[in-house]
Amino acid sequence: MIIDGKKAATELLATLANEVTALKESTDITPSLTVVLVGEDAASQVYVRNKIKQTVAVGMISNEIRLPDTTSQAELLAQLLTLNSDDSVHGILVQLPLPKHIDESVVIAAINPEKDVDGFHAMNSGRLLNGEAGALVPCTPQGCIILAKQYLGDDLSGQHAVVIGRSNIVGKPVALLLLQENCTVTIAHSRTKNLAQICQQADILVAAVGRAEFVKASWVKKGATVIDVGINRIEADGSDGKVNGKAKLVGDVDFNAVSEVCGAITPVPGGVGPMTIACLLKNTLKAAIRQAPSA
Ligand code: NAD
Repeated sequence: MIIDGKKAATELLATLANEVTALKESTDITPSLTVVLVGEDAASQVYVRNKIKQTVAVGMISNEIRLPDTTSQAELLAQLLTLNSDDSVHGILVQLPLPKHIDESVVIAAINPEKDVDGFHAMNSGRLLNGEAGALVPCTPQGCIILAKQYLGDDLSGQHAVVIGRSNIVGKPVALLLLQENCTVTIAHSRTKNLAQICQQADILVAAVGRAEFVKASWVKKGATVIDVGINRIEADGSDGKVNGKAKLVGDVDFNAVSEVCGAITPVPGGVGPMTIACLLKNTLKAAIRQAPSA
């Protein structure tokens, strides 16, 4: 089975739109998300445009603050301070990467954790670690769990999940979420020995490496659920008949070969990617509800 991330994201967005309507009717609160974009990075501009479009589509308020790449760290922190104390702003997202002269960790730490809809603030990582319901959980990992459940159903308990990657953005939080789902979790990374043998034990294999078609069919147990987080741009040779341009997107998994072995797999594009924005808006709604005066 190919797990359709586009369809799952469309369904989640439709549910969110209904919940936003219900919230507006019962409380007069319209969830609002402010995206801060520093500099001219082309990919970031595309991501931000998509986020704004989807935010408006589910009935939320979308604000964008664009700052030049000459913005100093102090100026960005001052901007965040203003947003932190503005009651009409429920979610704040600083688009990464930031220009080199700005320290991302300082910026993330400066966001009010209650408005940290990316879920990168240490307060939210800690809440996730402790299994607290109030955590704002990073968006891509949330999407991974929703997609795994599309195939396996809601109960993941007892499954052996292997996560390749230990970043704060994907690897670690997805491993914690799988643990919360009562999986037995193994985290593999760049220093892991016998990676293929470890992957072969996985009922659920999550690849968050950033290396094109890294996971081979021989590493995958028959019938496993494979969640491919990777987004890698490679030269297109046109051999698959789909691509006429110069580059194409592939995941961290050798999709065609692994599809023959696994039970279910997320494609790239059209798998985890579309879930990320949907989960961002899920976080924004959660943040807005938690900030409501009566909450
Ligand atoms: P990262 O570079 O921060 O982390 C990569 C991880 O892979 C590291 O923890 C490292 O230990 C591990 N790794 C590297 N080489 C390895 C090897 N040879 N064997 C085993 N492990 C190895 O990347 P990230 O931010 O976690 O992102 C991972 C991938 O997911 C990238 O392709 C990124 O573009 C993609 N991504 C996609 C989305 C989405 O919305 N779909 C969101 C975030 C990231």
